[in-house]
Amino acid sequence: VECPILYGKNIAVKIEEELKKQVEVQKRKLGRTPQLTTIVAAEDSASKVYLASQAKVAARLGIEFDFQKLPGDISQDNLEKEIQSLNRNQAVDGVLIQMPLPAHLDPKRAINFLSPDKDVEGLHPQNLGRLFFLEPKIIPPTVAGVMAMLEEIKIDLRGKEVVIVGHSEIVGKPLSLLLLNKLATTTVCHIGTSGAGHLEMHLKKAEILIVAVGKPRFIKGSSLKKGVVVIDVGINKENGKLVGDVDFETAKEKASFITPVPGGIGALTPVMLMRNLLRLTQ
Ligand code: NDP
Repeated sequence: VECPILYGKNIAVKIEEELKKQVEVQKRKLGRTPQLTTIVAAEDSASKVYLASQAKVAARLGIEFDFQKLPGDISQDNLEKEIQSLNRNQAVDGVLIQMPLPAHLDPKRAINFLSPDKDVEGLHPQNLGRLFFLEPKIIPPTVAGVMAMLEEIKIDLRGKEVVIVGHSEIVGKPLSLLLLNKLATTTVCHIGTSGAGHLEMHLKKAEILIVAVGKPRFIKGSSLKKGVVVIDVGINKENGKLVGDVDFETAKEKASFITPVPGGIGALTPVMLMRNLLRLTQ
């Protein structure tokens, strides 16, 4: 039997239909078009791809998308002034600070300057803190994409052995809290786990495996338990092709569901970003 492939696109289309309606409602309420502003200070090829997809989805939904390029040598003070002026701008509903910032800038300080009410990526400490207390309003978009994917297959998370590989602040860490809140038994693996030689042990017991590491085809099918649900967040370039953190061909032999790269979680992230924007307008 072929393992079903979980395409993000199918879910994205359904969510976009709902969001289009919400845009119309908000337009009437606000008397203007909901607006997302993204500020970019660094030249980075991955962020160009993310920007292009933000612009595309915004256009499809009828959301105003404004892109502000800041000089690469902008000072921390001036960056914070820009952020504060967007915080005060009533025509702007959400602000995204595109990472990475140039190396001389402090990303954490920048995010702290952002109003939590305009924090479309859910990375302000106040929004991240809500995850801890079971009341998130705004969830980091990639994490929201993973949750939507799990909802799509109607899997009961309670008591499931969930293994997350990668503990980044935008994916692994917030995801682990959300899954814990659903009473999954959540294991988070990272560089320490691999260093101690324990990664294989955790992979073997995973009933749901979520990988966000940033290493091409890092996880092979031979490490997986039969029937595992595999969610691959990774997006890597290998010989000019996009591949995930999971070796798709061998993993699909073991999995009961698997997400492809590209076309899996990556197709959901910009849509979830716009869902957040609409939540901020409400
Ligand atoms: P980070 O580089 O911030 O995090 C990678 C994580 O993997 C870290 O926690 C790191 O641990 C861990 N790690 C690195 N090497 C190993 C190893 N050998 N064994 C176990 N853990 C390891 O990446 P992001 O979370 O930002 O992104 C991860 C991937 O997801 C990338 O490919 C990125 O392009 C992709 N991505 C995709 C999105 C989408 O929409 N689909 C959105 C965001 C990201 P430590 O810090 O301890 O070294």
